Amino acid sequence: MSKVSRRNLLSATAAGAMVTAAASARAASFGNPDEPPQGAINTKGNPASLTDPGPQNPAIGDQFPSAQSPPPTDVSDMPLFWASFNNAPKRIQNGGWARQVTQADFAIAESISGVDMRLTAGGIREMHWHLAAEWGFVSYGNCRVTVLDEMGRAYVADVKEGDLWYFPAGLPHSLQGLGPDGCEFLLCFDDGKATEYNTLLVTDWLAHTPPDILAENFGVPVGTFSKIPLHQLYIFQGKLPGALLADQAAVKGAKGFPPHPFTFSLGSSAPVRKTKGGEVRIADSNNFIVSKTIAAALVTLHPGGLREMHWHPNADEWQYWIKGKGRMTVFDSGPKAVTMDFNPGDIGYVKRSNGHYIKNIGDGDLQFLEVFKSPYFADVSLSDWMTHTPPAMVAQHLNVDEATIAKFPSNKPEIMPE
Ligand code: MN
Ligand code: MN
Repeated sequence: MSKVSRRNLLSATAAGAMVTAAASARAASFGNPDEPPQGAINTKGNPASLTDPGPQNPAIGDQFPSAQSPPPTDVSDMPLFWASFNNAPKRIQNGGWARQVTQADFAIAESISGVDMRLTAGGIREMHWHLAAEWGFVSYGNCRVTVLDEMGRAYVADVKEGDLWYFPAGLPHSLQGLGPDGCEFLLCFDDGKATEYNTLLVTDWLAHTPPDILAENFGVPVGTFSKIPLHQLYIFQGKLPGALLADQAAVKGAKGFPPHPFTFSLGSSAPVRKTKGGEVRIADSNNFIVSKTIAAALVTLHPGGLREMHWHPNADEWQYWIKGKGRMTVFDSGPKAVTMDFNPGDIGYVKRSNGHYIKNIGDGDLQFLEVFKSPYFADVSLSDWMTHTPPAMVAQHLNVDEATIAKFPSNKPEIMPE
């Protein structure tokens, strides 16, 4: 009996005593698709176990086939690691909008919170600063960013789709959409609790400072500030800025410009890994010097491609799903294994050192960001480990021969097929 798989047994017999006996005899063994403790395969011969007669919303439910009927290898549960901007309320103003997912909405996301923001051509995200560091990724259009460092050195740059910016915690900055149609971008703060709605705004401070203090502070008459906004602007429609070179010349002081750029072209950078299955691009403090607390990988999986089984020893992974359809299974001790489906605008989260893979299940390219609260990107590949451990050791764990192990990829492909 031990060599007869339960799946074969189930298909060869009607539901009955024999199946029950087999299941109970193997009750201590699980995690194998032939011997699952949970999953639709257990319902063979008893179809009522699978029906779902209660309330449901197919428009939402159908997006999650892996939750509706998990693969038979899934087991146990773990904190929800799916969230989305698609159902996050928009704060809409004249000039653009913002929506966010913080740890208040997404309990597992301890290290990073996310904001999706749109600015029209000329639309301004008000001059401000905040407690967390801000990392931005342009998903659409063009944007002008300004920032001042603590040495008094000013930086102004234009960014396009696929570009990044990084503003260290506390440094003041502004954002403005450019032509022809403004921009949309992702913001990640290096603190899961950080919210975009409690930043320190220049209009708020001026409106709540006595006029005579403002006058003394800036060395001008009190009447100078008679028309300042009484309420914060946050996002407002402005005029398109002039030439970048003119703005850069206008902000340059005696201290000169910062030694390292606060922006980086991730999307148009050379891939660090390119296989038949896809491409990986990385930005961390090794190549994007100022990005001391955020590291990121931009991953493109071609149809059928697989982001290989791996984990990150240094940080939790916060994901932004940009295009295509993907499926991820996360593995934790217990064992626990849970599979979820992801679509554009969704957010995923994997705790540090939890194993995972991502499969492109769509017809076109799948693209997503892996974002880490870390100065550097790091991952450990399962196949790399299996092929760089003495073969006899690995063979005894897997019950395969050493010749088979020699066929595993031994150069950390990141994306399969190689
Ligand atoms: Mn900001
Ligand atoms: Mn990962």
